[in-house]
Amino acid sequence: MLEVSPVRAFSDNYIWLIRAPGQPDAAVVVDPGQARPVDEVLEELGLRLLAILVTHYHPDHVGGVAELAANHGARVFGPARERLPCEAQLLDDGDHVRLAELGLDFLVMAIPGHTLGHIAYYGHGALFCGDTLFSGGCGRMFEGTPAQMLDSLDRIAALPDETRIYCAHEYTLGNLRFAASVEPGNADVIDALEATRALRERDAITLPSELGRERGINPFLRCRLPSVRSAAEAHAGRTLAQPSEVFAAVRSWKDGFR
Ligand code: ZN
Ligand code: FE
Repeated sequence: MLEVSPVRAFSDNYIWLIRAPGQPDAAVVVDPGQARPVDEVLEELGLRLLAILVTHYHPDHVGGVAELAANHGARVFGPARERLPCEAQLLDDGDHVRLAELGLDFLVMAIPGHTLGHIAYYGHGALFCGDTLFSGGCGRMFEGTPAQMLDSLDRIAALPDETRIYCAHEYTLGNLRFAASVEPGNADVIDALEATRALRERDAITLPSELGRERGINPFLRCRLPSVRSAAEAHAGRTLAQPSEVFAAVRSWKDGFR
C-alpha cells in the first residue's frame, strides 16, 4: 500500500506527501499550495522532493509549486489544459506519470467540472482527485456544466471500492451535515457524520476516505437513487428527469446550504 501522509496548508487544504516505494528517502507531493509546510516536513523526515503533481490551477493548489520546483529541482507534472506557474510535463486523459526509479506509476484521468482542465492521478489503489470528489461531497462547479461534472464523478465511481480517496480539502463535516439533510433516513450518513464530528472535535483528519464508503454516503454519487432524486425534486419544486438535473439541483442546494 502506498505510504501517503497529509501536510496541512492554509485553513483546510491538504498537500499529500507520497513516500516513494522504490526510494526510501524520496517523496512526491500533490497540489502544494504553499512551499513552507512541505519544506518543514521534508526536513523533519529527511526526504528529498523529486516530483510535484498538480490537479488544477487554483492558487491554493499551485501556490508553492514554482518555489519547491526551483529549490529542490523537482519535476512538475500538471494538466495540459491549464496555465501552470512554471514549466511542467503536461498531462491529458489516459497519460501515465511513470516514475520508474521511484516505483510509482499513476494513470491520469481528465475530470472536468470544478475547472475545465482538472485531472486526477490514479495508481497503487489511491486516487488524488483535488477538488472534484470530496468525502461526502464534491467541488463547486466553477467552470464546467452539471453533465460534465457528473460524468467526471461517474468515471471516479467506476474505480474499485477499495480505492482510497485523497482529496485536497477537509470539508467532510460540512459535507455530511448537508448529506444528512438530503437523506435523513440514510443510516450510513448519520454514522459517518457522528464519526466525523468526533474526529473534528480533536482536529483530526477525516481522510483518506474509500470509494465504496463514499458510494453509501456521498449524495453526489447517489443522484440516480430515488431517495436523493426525490429530495432534490422536493427542494427544487419540480420534476427532475435526468441524473444531471438531479446533480445540478443537489449542487446548487449545497451552494446555499449553511
Ligand atoms: Zn480548486
Ligand atoms: Fe482547492
